[in-house]
Amino acid sequence: MTTLLLLDATVLTLSPDGSRVQPLAHHDVLVEGQRITHVQPTGQADPSHFDEVVRAAGRVVMPGLINTHAHVPMVLFRGLAEDVSIDRWFNEFIWPLESNLHPDDVYWGMLLGTAEMLLGGVTTVADHYFHMDVGAKAIAESGMRGVLGWAMFGSQGQAALDTTERFVRQHHNSADGRITAAIAPHAPYTCDDDFLRGSARLVDALGVPAHIHAAEVRAQTDLSLQKRGLTPIQVLEQTGLLRQGTILAHACGVLPSDIELMAEAGVGVAHAPKTYLKLGMDVTPIPALRQAGIAVGLATDGAVSNNTLDLWEALRLCAMLQKDRARQPEVLPIAEALLIATRESARVLGMADRLGAVQAGYLADLIVLDLGGLHHQPLHDLGASLVYNTLPTDVQTVIVNGQIVVRDRVLRRIDPATVVHQASRAMQRLAQRVPAQRIQTYQP
Ligand SMILES: [Zn+2]
Repeated sequence: MTTLLLLDATVLTLSPDGSRVQPLAHHDVLVEGQRITHVQPTGQADPSHFDEVVRAAGRVVMPGLINTHAHVPMVLFRGLAEDVSIDRWFNEFIWPLESNLHPDDVYWGMLLGTAEMLLGGVTTVADHYFHMDVGAKAIAESGMRGVLGWAMFGSQGQAALDTTERFVRQHHNSADGRITAAIAPHAPYTCDDDFLRGSARLVDALGVPAHIHAAEVRAQTDLSLQKRGLTPIQVLEQTGLLRQGTILAHACGVLPSDIELMAEAGVGVAHAPKTYLKLGMDVTPIPALRQAGIAVGLATDGAVSNNTLDLWEALRLCAMLQKDRARQPEVLPIAEALLIATRESARVLGMADRLGAVQAGYLADLIVLDLGGLHHQPLHDLGASLVYNTLPTDVQTVIVNGQIVVRDRVLRRIDPATVVHQASRAMQRLAQRVPAQRIQTYQP
C-alpha cells in the first residue's frame, strides 16, 4: 500500500458542532492506501518511511471540495447562453446546443472540466449528463471521485431506464471505488410520473442514489400546483424519489410544507448560487433547510449558467447571498460556510462518514493551499481568508483516494494542452444552434 506524509501543515478542522474554525498548527497528516491513518503533531513521523512526502510548512491542508451538482461536459458551451431568460436559455440555447453532442465531445468536455476542478481543489463531483459511460471513463482516468448519473428525459421512455441500469451495473464502485453511480431523471417537469416511478424502482433495485432537479424556481412550484395540485416536491414524494440519499438540485422554489417532507425523507440539496444570480432565479432557503436538518452542499451546476467550475466562488456567493436576502450580515457565518463546503457537502452525497474532514479513518481526499498570496496578507483569520479571499490558483497539491493528482499546480494524469486542443476542435460544430432541433422543450 502506498504511504504518503503531509508534513508540518496547518490543518483545517471545525469544532464538532461546526460552530468554530479550529486550525491545528504544525500537524502531519499520514495516509496509507486510500485513507488517512493519523493527524498528529509534527515531529513523530519519520519522512524516510513514506513513499511520498509533501512538505507543507506554512501551508493549509483541508478536505478537498465537493461539487454536489454539475453537468461538467457543458464547459464545451461556456459563454454561449448569456443574458437570456430561463425559457430562452433552455429552448433556444441549451437544448438545441446539446443536440450537437457526440460521445467523444462528452469525453473531452468531462476531462476539461475535471482538469479545471482538480486544479481548483475540487476532489469530488456529482455529475448529471448524457453519454455518461464515456464521462465515467474520463473521471476514472483523471483520478477524481464522482457520483455519476446518466441524464434521462421521460420522453426517452424505457430505453433510457435500460441504459441507466446497464451503466450502473458496469460502473458503480469502479475506479478503485472512486465512482458511485446514480439514477438521474432530469426533473419532474420533463419526466412523467410513470417515468419517475420507474427511476425509483431502479434506485431500489440497484441500491444507488437518485439525483434530480426539483423546484428550481418558485414559478415551477406555482405552475405545478395550478396544473395538478401538487408541488414538484410532492410529485417526487408520490413517485418514490423523495427518499434518503436523493440529491435535489436547487430547491429554490420550495414551500415550508415541502421542507417538512424533505426533512422527513432525508434528502440533500445542492446549492449553486452563481447560477441563481446570473439567471435571476430565486435562492435556496438555506437557513430554513438547515434548521430542518436537511444537508445543503455547494455546487456549480453547468458552466453555461455558471461559466466556471470554481467552488471557492460558490462558497463566497453562498454566504453573501443569504446575508443579502436576509439583510443581516450575521446570517451564514464563516464556520457555517466552511461546514457547508466540507462535511455538509459530503452529507448531501451520503458520504459524511468518509469525506469532508481531515480525520483518521476518512478517505484521503485532501488539498494543500498556499495562502502566501498578497490577497491574503496579513493573514489574521484563516476561516475568513478561506471563505472570502481564496482563489483556485491558491491550491498547490491535490490528493484523491490517497493518490497525488496535482502536485505543485501540475496535473499528473491529464495533459491540459491535449484536452484543450481536442475540446476546441469541435467548437464550431458544437456552437451551431437550430432551435427546431432541441432535445426537449422547457414547459414547467
Ligand atoms: Zn443542473
